[in-house]
Amino acid sequence: MNDYHLKDLSSKVKSVLHAKKKSGQYLAAYAPYGYRKSEEDRHKLVIDGESAAVVRQIFQMRQSGMAYGKIAAALNEKGILPPRWYWAVHYGNGSCKYSRLWAYATVRSLLNDDIYVGTLTQNCTGSRSYKDKTMIRKPESEWISHEGAHEAIIGPELWEAVQKINQAAKQISANNTPPQASLFTGKLVCADCGHPLVAARETQRRKNGTVKHYTSYFCSRFATTGHSICSWHRIFEISLKNLVLSDIRAHGKAVAADEAAVLDKLKQHIQSASAAQQEDSRQEINRLRRRLEELEGITAKLYEDKVSGAISGDSFSVLIQKNEQERIQKSERLDSLLAGERKAQQDIANIHQWAGTIRQYLDLQELNREIIEELIDRIEVGERTVIDGQRHQDIKIYYRFVGLV
Ligand SMILES: [Zn+2]
Repeated sequence: MNDYHLKDLSSKVKSVLHAKKKSGQYLAAYAPYGYRKSEEDRHKLVIDGESAAVVRQIFQMRQSGMAYGKIAAALNEKGILPPRWYWAVHYGNGSCKYSRLWAYATVRSLLNDDIYVGTLTQNCTGSRSYKDKTMIRKPESEWISHEGAHEAIIGPELWEAVQKINQAAKQISANNTPPQASLFTGKLVCADCGHPLVAARETQRRKNGTVKHYTSYFCSRFATTGHSICSWHRIFEISLKNLVLSDIRAHGKAVAADEAAVLDKLKQHIQSASAAQQEDSRQEINRLRRRLEELEGITAKLYEDKVSGAISGDSFSVLIQKNEQERIQKSERLDSLLAGERKAQQDIANIHQWAGTIRQYLDLQELNREIIEELIDRIEVGERTVIDGQRHQDIKIYYRFVGLV
């Protein structure tokens, strides 16, 4: 019965909302950038002068041929607040958790939103069912569009011109997307800003008519901020592949030639505690264990003495408390030493596992995704520099289990 009731209620609420959307009422919680909710009718959008002026600028910049990212960079340079921040400062509590910068994606969605020609499109997303509240994107056939629902910010000619440019850009970006997931995707990190590197396919046309495709990676932060933050950090997949391949082979060969020497080196590198410190810690563990046993004996003896009347109740309380304090303090120390010892053992086990794996690859000819997943935690890519006419780029390979070798 209850389930039936909920389903019925849910569909009643939905049909009311549906009718409201059909009649062009604006039902979302926040007005889109460029608009605000009318004071007389909370379901009607009216133009917000200051942000609408920015929307017009953005469309004009696009019409003049600027890329999404370049527009974002230009807005950031002028110190214009991005939509969520603008809303928070003018209509909210003055602050929000999102970035204070315009990003590529914000500009792109704004330039493709027909809300700015006065069309209100709703019902694009919704929960899967009255039970499952996961938000899904609905098929276009279920969208409810209402033309002329509110005043347009962008005229039809400017809108059309911009849509043509957007469509062309979409085609170019589809051509530049690598056909399959790239070899190093998710493993590369910008050494300067910590953001992931993303892959893109580049096409080179030679004079003799041949066309070659290259995959390269570059800092995603640099890309999404319209080149206003960080820098390229670009690396070609082919160069990186050769570098990683030869690094793996070199380690594999070193392990095969003298495993003990490599293990020793790694142990020195990983272990913060020296052999002498470890011996000290082992001795302390033994002392602590002995003392804890003694304390237990003392506690038992105190209870006996109290029962037999050998000590007074007052002395008993004082002594048992003192005893208990020491017991707690000593057990905590013991726990932390044992944890340190376990970690050291785990580190050693990791080193052995890494050596066992990498020695299989001393003759590796071709790098694939499986091997990268198996061996590599992440690779930090630095910016290219030129020193005395020589190109330099810092690449740090962090292996799984052992880190930087
Ligand atoms: Zn970066």
